[in-house]
Amino acid sequence: EGFAALGITGPLLKATHNAGFTEPKPIQEQAIPAQLKGRDILGIAQTGSGKTAAFSLPILSKIIGIGSKRVPRTCRALILAPTRELAVQIEETIRVLAKGLHISTALVLGGVSRFSQVKKMQPGVDVLIATPGRLTDLVREGDISLAETRYLVLDEADRMLDMGFINDVRRIAKATHRDRQTALFSATMPNEIAQLAESLLKQPLRVEV
Ligand code: AMP
Repeated sequence: EGFAALGITGPLLKATHNAGFTEPKPIQEQAIPAQLKGRDILGIAQTGSGKTAAFSLPILSKIIGIGSKRVPRTCRALILAPTRELAVQIEETIRVLAKGLHISTALVLGGVSRFSQVKKMQPGVDVLIATPGRLTDLVREGDISLAETRYLVLDEADRMLDMGFINDVRRIAKATHRDRQTALFSATMPNEIAQLAESLLKQPLRVEV
């Protein structure tokens, strides 16, 4: 029943309940079990569908399962979002879902000081939420390595395309670990996004809500 039936267990299940999430939304019912089994996801979903928890809970579950072993200047999971506002919201949701679970998060966003962002990355973090432009800069300059990043999420991919981030997104994906698990969410599926999905996802489960 509930998130337990989807494969969310132990302290993460408890934290999810404490966050007020007791009944999974349809996108969560479809996407969580598949991701826990290691599948890539192609999600066609709007804001308000519950997509944030749909991609965050499996990542948190896997990171908790591995235990904490952080590598300086790396992140184990990377979530790319088109705007600062969305990135901040995603981090907030993850902090609530992972409350008390010793998961570290960081934000890398344009328009704010790089110094504090680089400093926060020094010991390595579990989950990095970033906008593509600034992350591209910090990776290029060697402040962040994605070589250990085995979980990648592209959220609102169509908006990242509209904002001109598509080449940054491709470069960033290329810099992650080759054996990564990937989820791509988009409200619409224009040709360029279908092509991006084709090149980045391995036999994805398509979920549409
Ligand atoms: P999202 O589409 O991820 O932005 O989520 C939309 C809103 O629904 C957010 O305020 C979430 O906190 C909330 N939400 C998502 N999943 C659940 C759930 N299973 N139970 C209760 N609230 C949820």
